[in-house]
Amino acid sequence: MPKSKPKGTSLLDALVEIIRKTSCDLPKDISAAIERGHQAEPDGSRGKYAMQIILENIKMAREKSQPVCQDTGTILFFIKYPGGFDAEKLAGVATKAVREATKRGYLRQNSVDSLTGRNSGTNVGPGSPVLHLEPWRKNYFDIRLVLKGGGSENMSTQYSLPDTRLGAGRDLDGVCKCVLDATHKAQGRGCGPGVLGVCVGGDRGTGYMHAKEQLLRKLDDRNINPDLARIESECLRLGNRLGIGPMGFGGSTTLLGVKIGALNRLPASFFVSIAYMCWAERRQGARVEKNGRIKKWFY
Ligand code: SF4
Repeated sequence: MPKSKPKGTSLLDALVEIIRKTSCDLPKDISAAIERGHQAEPDGSRGKYAMQIILENIKMAREKSQPVCQDTGTILFFIKYPGGFDAEKLAGVATKAVREATKRGYLRQNSVDSLTGRNSGTNVGPGSPVLHLEPWRKNYFDIRLVLKGGGSENMSTQYSLPDTRLGAGRDLDGVCKCVLDATHKAQGRGCGPGVLGVCVGGDRGTGYMHAKEQLLRKLDDRNINPDLARIESECLRLGNRLGIGPMGFGGSTTLLGVKIGALNRLPASFFVSIAYMCWAERRQGARVEKNGRIKKWFY
């Protein structure tokens, strides 16, 4: 059984608390979208039942400080740190926090050696956790964390446009066709209803990473690029008309959100990278002072 919340004000404590809150609760915007989805599905339908189970799961995890899902997922940190702070030390503290959170039961032991399949029991190893560290001029840390489930990652995909099979050209209409194709192919697997983080452009590596960064956005934010804002709404509307529904049981709640960003690309390529996220979009973040005090939660 997980032990109680950590106390203290060190950076390690703050990181462990951010991990606990990320793993054991969902952000308010995601919970609200799941509530809306539950209300939208007809009484007695399998879609309604699936949404009911999801809601009960979230409530139980929150009350008991237990993981929302047993699939810990990829541990993705996005940390901005005050210039001058030792980045190597920061990486060490973040990794130690993952070990500690695993020991306390906030994270299930879920990271294995790719060649032997051996589980270290710590969630730490080559590539885990994933650390994006960026210095900035402010005097505090901006620490954000996403836990991205393996089932949902299996549904992530990448397109290279033009795609004659989809009739998708190198334009925003083509991007929408990719989003709808990915949603259709998933058929609710990867634990729908899903949230799609999308990147237009970049290369194969940066495209996927930028697509994942879109998952840091709140569902109800508005893209500052009006063209991307328009296709985000359009893809969401059309995706929810596919009839796939929660877990593929049928219904109108197939997607909870679509968030699209863009990176420069080479003239020779036009990638559309899609990071498929499950309903358990465990995302949290906080402003943390240099002394480790959590000043403000972001979600
Ligand atoms: S895909 Fe998401 S909801 Fe499904 S098992 Fe993995 S973490 Fe859990």
